Parts: sequence; structure tokens; C-alpha cells
Amino acid sequence: MGFFAKDIKSMDDLFVHTLQDIYYAEKKIAKALPDMVKKASNAELKKGFETHLGETQNHIARVEEVFRMHGAQAKAVECPAIDGIIEEAEEIAGDVDDPRVLDAALIAAGQAVEHYEMTRYGTLVAWAKELGRDDCAKVLQQNLDEEKATDQKLTKLAVGTVNMQAAE
Ligand code: FE
Ligand code: FE
Repeated sequence: MGFFAKDIKSMDDLFVHTLQDIYYAEKKIAKALPDMVKKASNAELKKGFETHLGETQNHIARVEEVFRMHGAQAKAVECPAIDGIIEEAEEIAGDVDDPRVLDAALIAAGQAVEHYEMTRYGTLVAWAKELGRDDCAKVLQQNLDEEKATDQKLTKLAVGTVNMQAAE
């Protein structure tokens, strides 16, 4: 939002603003993921973060596509929420010594990120439909589905192996 506040006048403006928010978040996540790959010890977790880095690049491309479809310029607006989630993830990772406990912490941090993305894409899909843009909703839904799938994979990995090993 700009200096003259009240930049968002319509539902359409709000949709574009939220698209700019998730665009910022996705780019930030793409920058943070290589570090999570490096820090993870569990091979499956490492591979999972790597796979999601590739998916995240696609998310960025899809958001750009929605900007284009909507006739809006692809622009990122600062998103303090994702900054905070990533900052906290880095802090906690720096405080954990045992690599198995670190894996559990990385999963928890990763799931916080996925849930943030899920809430944003869930909203964007609903708003796109309301605005009569089923075409945009369809593209955004693809991102939402991949975030959900990633979240579920992380849960499975945590509950199935990582948490138990961390608690040993
Ligand atoms: Fe994403
Ligand atoms: Fe994600």
C-alpha cells in the first residue's frame, strides 16, 4: 500500500494486492529453500525440499501467468507475515544442535510456510471465482493443490519417521 493509503478501492484491487503478496512470498520461499535442503539430514526430507523448490519456481511462473491473464503488472508487495515465518525458521534452526531434532524443526517450519501459502491461495481461488475469473482460479488451484500435497508429505514424514528419531 502506498503513502496515500486507501489504494484498494475494489474487490478487484484486493485480489491483485493479494496476488502481489503471494508473489513476494513465493520468491522469498524460493530463496529460503536451498538453505533448508542444506540443513536437512534425512534423505527423504532433503529430497522433499528439493522437489518443492522446483514446484515453487512453477508457482512463481503461474502467479505471473495470472497477473498477465488479469491484465495486471507482475509486482511484489512486501509480506511481513512470510518474512516473520522464515525469520523464525532460521532462528530456530540456528538454535538446534542435534541433526535429528533439526529435521523435526525444519519440517515444522516448512509446514508453517505451506499453511501460509494455503490460506493465501484458498482465498485467491475463492475471490477469482467470485470475480468471474474461473480461468485464474484454475491456475491458482494448481498451486494450492501442490502446497496441500507438500504439507501432507511433510506430515507423513514427521509422524512416520522424523519425530520418532528426534525423540530417541
Ligand atoms: Fe508455493
Ligand atoms: Fe510451498
